[in-house]
Amino acid sequence: MFDHISRRALIRSAAMGLAAGTITAPSAAPAPLDADLIVCGAGMAGLTAALTAARRGLTVVILEKRLWTGGDGVLSTGHFATFRTPLHKDLPQNLPISAEDYWKLIERGVIDEPLSKVRDNQMNSPVYYGVAKHNPDVLRSCAMRAADVIAFVRSMGAEFFPVNPALPFLLSSRPGSMTKIATALVARLREAGVKLMNRTRATALIVEDGAVKGVRYVDNKGAEGALRAQAVLLATGGFINSPALMQRYKRYWSTAKRGFSFEGDLPADHTGDGILMGKAAGAALEDMESVPKFWAGPAKGTPAVSWLMLDGATAYLVRKNGRRFINEKAARYSGCALRLFALGSEPGYVLFDEATFRGHYHDELEFEKALAQGGLFKARTAEELAAKAGVDARGLKATIARINADAAKRRDSEFGRTDKLFRALKAPYIFRLRTTRSPSRPRAGSK
Ligand SMILES: Cc1cc2nc3c(=O)[nH]c(=O)nc-3n(C[C@H](O)[C@H](O)[C@H](O)COP(=O)(O)OP(=O)(O)OC[C@H]3O[C@@H](n4cnc5c(N)ncnc54)[C@H](O)[C@@H]3O)c2cc1C
Repeated sequence: MFDHISRRALIRSAAMGLAAGTITAPSAAPAPLDADLIVCGAGMAGLTAALTAARRGLTVVILEKRLWTGGDGVLSTGHFATFRTPLHKDLPQNLPISAEDYWKLIERGVIDEPLSKVRDNQMNSPVYYGVAKHNPDVLRSCAMRAADVIAFVRSMGAEFFPVNPALPFLLSSRPGSMTKIATALVARLREAGVKLMNRTRATALIVEDGAVKGVRYVDNKGAEGALRAQAVLLATGGFINSPALMQRYKRYWSTAKRGFSFEGDLPADHTGDGILMGKAAGAALEDMESVPKFWAGPAKGTPAVSWLMLDGATAYLVRKNGRRFINEKAARYSGCALRLFALGSEPGYVLFDEATFRGHYHDELEFEKALAQGGLFKARTAEELAAKAGVDARGLKATIARINADAAKRRDSEFGRTDKLFRALKAPYIFRLRTTRSPSRPRAGSK
């Protein structure tokens, strides 16, 4: 997958990307270089870029401010968007899941991976204009590599759950896979002689003669230093923990109330360091306004049940009044979260039944564990379920009755769902209590 990148092109593109830096006095004699390339940030982006460069013969140093390596990747839920891969072997051969089918869906904005990394193409997003901003050839070439990415992460030890036929373009990796990938990447980097400096925070780009020449850093003991290289690659993740950047570039989301933040173990150090370093050196900022995605967890301390359910299983989203409020399938998780945000601080609740409970996501989303630990409720009647979960019983009863009547007519009279997952619910009903909503994705960057 890396064959198209030559050593010279890599150096040139990285250097050109930041060439418009602050101009300082020309240096008399060129200082010796510590490496060909310095990578700031040892998340999945930094690690794979470093490995690409090392395999092309460059000497590479990676700076990572945390003690650990792998960035948000190792905290993520590990879902990969792709088209037909060897993992799809048990699905019918005539299923429309080729690379072209995948691209068509992306173009329609139905699937947003992997292009959400470079553009905002979500129909429910307040900044949908992003779809027209980028070169479709570049985006297409990125999308067409999705199956290579699966092969690559499998070669790094990732393992996957069986493909959900209802969601064949999204593969779920098994728990621990993301850590395996990061561990394997670090091992390969070490084999390739790449130096990884943990607990070392990059603080500024060194700019001379209008070009980036290296990086200043500070280590965990407060000692400052500098490294010089032909090129510097900034892969320091997002800026959700920077109030100033959030207010400037994601004004809408920065108004989110307390309780709209991540309930989990995500470190609060997503301060957009690379973005600020690039900006200080004169780089243009690109895509800063794209909408953050949302990830949801149940009440703290209970196992997570993913928004994925709304995409790949029969499940409905209701409010505390027991009523649905959106076309769950079309809105997808970010659209659902956006609507919840607009409705105020009230949480959402996922409603499903025994068939979904026993279905594709039973193991993957650990339903039994969630039920045992109070992340889910189960009841034979809507009234009983409402009492357990603390939602309005009349509203919930009416919602189930309406879904079931509509499903019999194959017409969602409330929100117009036409997908195959829109079906009647049968008791026992299951309820997932308290869907917290949180912007999770570090996105955007310097150009
Ligand atoms: C809970 C959760 C679930 C997710 N689920 C999915 C999913 O299912 N599928 C999917 O595709 N994506 C998912 N994502 C998003 C995905 O994990 C991220 O988009 C991706 O990991 C970002 O990688 P990155 O390398 O660009 O940035 P990061 O992972 O943020 O890595 C940046 C690294 O740079 C380091 N750094 C920052 N500043 C400095 C500095 N000044 N000096 C040195 N080092 C620095 C950081 O410590 C970090 O290690 C999820 C994210 C979260 C939080």
